[in-house]
Amino acid sequence: MAPPHFLLVTFPGQGHINPSLQFAKRLVRVGAHVTFATAIRAHLRMAESKSPPEGLSFASFSDGYDEGVKEGQDIEVYMDDLKRRGSETLSDLIASNLENGRRLLRVFYTTVLPWVADVARSHGIPSTLVWIQPATVLDFYYYYFHGYGDLIRSTGDNPSLPIQLPGLPPLMASDIPSFCNSKDEYNFTLPLFQRHFEILLEEANPRVLANTFDALEPDAIRAIDKFKVIGIGPLIPSAFLDGQDPSDTSFGGDLFKSSSGYIEWLDMKPKASVIYLSFGSISVLSKPQKEEMARALVEAGRPFLWVIRTSGKEERDEDRLSCEEELENLGMIVPWCSQVEVLSHHSVGCFVTHCGWNSTSESLVCGVPVVAFPQWGDQQTNAKLVTDVWRTGVKVTPNEQGLVESDEMRRCLELVMGDEMRRNAQKFRDLAREAVKEGGSSDKNLRAFVDEVREASE
Ligand code: UDP
Repeated sequence: MAPPHFLLVTFPGQGHINPSLQFAKRLVRVGAHVTFATAIRAHLRMAESKSPPEGLSFASFSDGYDEGVKEGQDIEVYMDDLKRRGSETLSDLIASNLENGRRLLRVFYTTVLPWVADVARSHGIPSTLVWIQPATVLDFYYYYFHGYGDLIRSTGDNPSLPIQLPGLPPLMASDIPSFCNSKDEYNFTLPLFQRHFEILLEEANPRVLANTFDALEPDAIRAIDKFKVIGIGPLIPSAFLDGQDPSDTSFGGDLFKSSSGYIEWLDMKPKASVIYLSFGSISVLSKPQKEEMARALVEAGRPFLWVIRTSGKEERDEDRLSCEEELENLGMIVPWCSQVEVLSHHSVGCFVTHCGWNSTSESLVCGVPVVAFPQWGDQQTNAKLVTDVWRTGVKVTPNEQGLVESDEMRRCLELVMGDEMRRNAQKFRDLAREAVKEGGSSDKNLRAFVDEVREASE
């Protein structure tokens, strides 16, 4: 029997490409062929990475920004262009696959690309959403559009009153995704989530594949009876998880240039002594916030590895941190690194993170406790799960101006460097490995889904 062929379409951002690539590799592992498609610019960057396993091939479509998105680009305009232009160019890509006799059994697409389902449908191909955030956040958005919108919007009026949604932990105003705030500059993404649910609920057997696992979010996965959430995560390179493919040591789709020397530097540090700090591929800390952070690191006196992405422009004097020399004596500042490699290094003791879902699940898989420093989107909710549900970290409290002061930073660092949170984090590391190994919940879930899709097509 010929292997089933799937098309996987992903948003051209690092936080989408990383889990999608792992998802593609998992599909290949269960006997499928996958064409991985993203926008041209990201595709070109990925092509510089190492070659993919057999069964996985790459394709691209134009989002209208083939030279890359310029700094300061209005993201709302970009999302409109991506939908308009991407719908045409992705449709051409599917048509040329079909003309070449390649039968695409299903199209998978990641969060914020609901229009891909419409393109697939116009070619008569069924599609499935791959949700790359926790099930809790998926449920939350569902509730927002189905009966709880007024309640959720009223949290701003009563910030001290938690809202209780079925199957979710009690959430304060500061825990809910920022896009639900009418003042949030990215709340234009809300209609995209709404569209995801419209498409889902039109299906005869509505199902979402989610980058989570049964033991991590047992209640959230089952909270909503209108659709099924299938945990297929965590989507992390095999070498750091189940070890089935020891050569799979990186996502293989870095859009940024990594620096070198930091692993050798980590090798020289004592076990669990290093503070690792990174805020993902989008967020940037303000200059005053970086100064507070730097002061906290100097006062803590521990070794640290801090990722500060550079814009590619020459560094200006005003960007320089005031205590640069003391920082250099203690730690290393790099523009990008292989994060899972760092988190799985024995010398890393804690992770100061913006709580993007990939960073959060990587911290769990590597058993590293976190200082949660959420910025926007789902990060607030992820931080809530980390601190109050899994208890693998503590969240910083900003002052009235929204600044996390150095004393507060140091308080959090001392707390997470203790044993209790590390023990909790290691519990989830073991559960994550259990979920993805052969016969584990995520492995079984994915195999069952692929078998079903294959049988339905026969
Ligand atoms: N990452 C990395 N090196 C870095 C910083 C980030 O490899 O120096 C990876 C990280 O491992 C994660 C992704 O970039 O897989 C960031 O995704 P996340 O969801 O955490 O945040 P986003 O970038 O979407 O805000």
